Amino acid sequence: MINGKTKLLCLLGSPVAHSFSPAMHNAAFKKLGINASYMAFDIPSESIEATLKTLKEVNFVGANFTSPHKNAVIPFLDKIDPLALKIGAVNTVNYIEGKLIGYNTDVLGFVEALKIRDIQLEKKKIAILGTGGAAQAASVGLLNEQVESIHIFSRSLEKSRGLLNQLESPNVFAVTYDDTMDFKSFDIIVNATPIGMHPYEDKTPISVKDFGHESSVYYDLIYNPPETIFLQEAKELNRVTINGLDMLIFQGIYALRYWYDFDDNQWTRDDVLAILKANGVVSEEI
Ligand code: NAP
Repeated sequence: MINGKTKLLCLLGSPVAHSFSPAMHNAAFKKLGINASYMAFDIPSESIEATLKTLKEVNFVGANFTSPHKNAVIPFLDKIDPLALKIGAVNTVNYIEGKLIGYNTDVLGFVEALKIRDIQLEKKKIAILGTGGAAQAASVGLLNEQVESIHIFSRSLEKSRGLLNQLESPNVFAVTYDDTMDFKSFDIIVNATPIGMHPYEDKTPISVKDFGHESSVYYDLIYNPPETIFLQEAKELNRVTINGLDMLIFQGIYALRYWYDFDDNQWTRDDVLAILKANGVVSEEI
């Protein structure tokens, strides 16, 4: 029930109409007994500063930022978590004691999806396909877990070198898909490209049989469709596969944790999954 004490949280991006965040967070507030409401606002990047000023005036609790504002919001924040700073992208903002603090929960969500499956990361050789925001979040998350190496694959060496320079780690290497290295030695292969989702549903960024080995893990950050060609090819070879659904779920749970205190078992992965199913974000069979 919205009343005079209801607090405001929101998503700022463009477009936002397709977002599941309002459904997910409003359901969480209901379950956790929090008097707050979460709205989605479609704003251009020129309006970020003015929108934040207004939100501060109404004493909002926090916000999520989505494409294309994850970088653009940074100059307007008072403080940024080191993880978010390293990626140069903020997707969660907390407003505490008059200060705006930025975080990146895509990184946490990406890693949590591996951890809940007990997938060992230490000393593993990783291939990341793509150089966009998702690839950046995945790289930073994995470097924090002491992996042996990360090879960043791009269609352009210039772009993979750009990400390598940003990551500032001797364990990161820039490569192209035409490189002649041994692709079969990778333990975890991450698809951080849009290849596999609409309008590229019938495509895969790599031929899976050329990448990885019998015990490799194939992690596609796409969640719709739940099984891309990349994951189908890996399954046919009896390899371990993960889609992007848990990353999506956990980035939301971690954002909520920055805004409110609650116990792990009060708002869980299964609770979010039920909301996503009810809203048609994922199919009933998953
Ligand atoms: P993005 O910036 O649009 O693209 C990522 C990278 O994909 C680009 O940098 C590009 O790398 C490569 N790429 C683009 N078009 C390509 C093509 N036609 N062929 C081969 N490579 C291509 O996207 P993003 O925001 O990083 O997201 C990447 C994927 O992760 C998307 O599918 C998105 O839905 C998913 N994602 C999932 C979650 C989640 O919670 N599960 C969160 C964020 C993103 P090069 O130009 O260097 O080759």
